[in-house]
Amino acid sequence: MTLSPAFSPLGQPVVVPAAGDRRRHPAPAHLVFFHGPMDCGKSTLALQVDHNQSRQGRHGLLLTQGDRSGSPQISSRVGLRRDALELDGDTDVRLLVRDRWAAGQRVDYLIVDEAQFLTGAQVEQLAELVDESHVDVYAFGLTTDFRTRLFPGTQRLFELADDVQRVQVEVLCWCGLRGLLNARVVGGEMVREGATVVVADTAPPADPVTAEDGGEAVRYQVLCRRHYTRGQLGPAPTGPGQLALR
Ligand SMILES: [Zn+2]
Repeated sequence: MTLSPAFSPLGQPVVVPAAGDRRRHPAPAHLVFFHGPMDCGKSTLALQVDHNQSRQGRHGLLLTQGDRSGSPQISSRVGLRRDALELDGDTDVRLLVRDRWAAGQRVDYLIVDEAQFLTGAQVEQLAELVDESHVDVYAFGLTTDFRTRLFPGTQRLFELADDVQRVQVEVLCWCGLRGLLNARVVGGEMVREGATVVVADTAPPADPVTAEDGGEAVRYQVLCRRHYTRGQLGPAPTGPGQLALR
């Protein structure tokens, strides 16, 4: 798409940070949410969407959460990565964007990775940016936590997004069926209770240990619904004698 004249003033540093001419732009913006289990390729898709948008001459802002590296990035398991801004629960996303506009930067769209960690209020802020400022928002996140419940950000996105899509790249359970649910494994056993800690969706596959719980290593494994319900983690890597049935 080509940029209409209504967008061009936002490239100038003198423009006021409020939405201004965007409000009169006829093309409606959209809030789109892509979701799936861990390892389904959400971050890869996020970077692909960013690439496609920027190739059209649009300017985006990349946001993420729960990145403890100190230099936040959106990174995918196929080796792509881009620097991103780190959000926390107190960040007002509207102010974040308006600060950019005040500094003379264009923001035509947002890429929001780890969107499951957004608060309900932040999802509402994103919707306001879409409706009032014509910023397109592409959010990417996990569907459910290890207890099979929707994450708060995910739930609000289901409620408010213009378009909700399950990511089509399929991650398989050990049995070969489509993976649907994220199991938390502590000390080799599947657990169904506990705090919703940060899920290290970005942890490299070679290092599945993402946290510690009472001194025991925590990892996550994607299972089909049946094997989640049965608590069966499969023959590898612990061996068939160590299946945890709880
Ligand atoms: Zn299975």
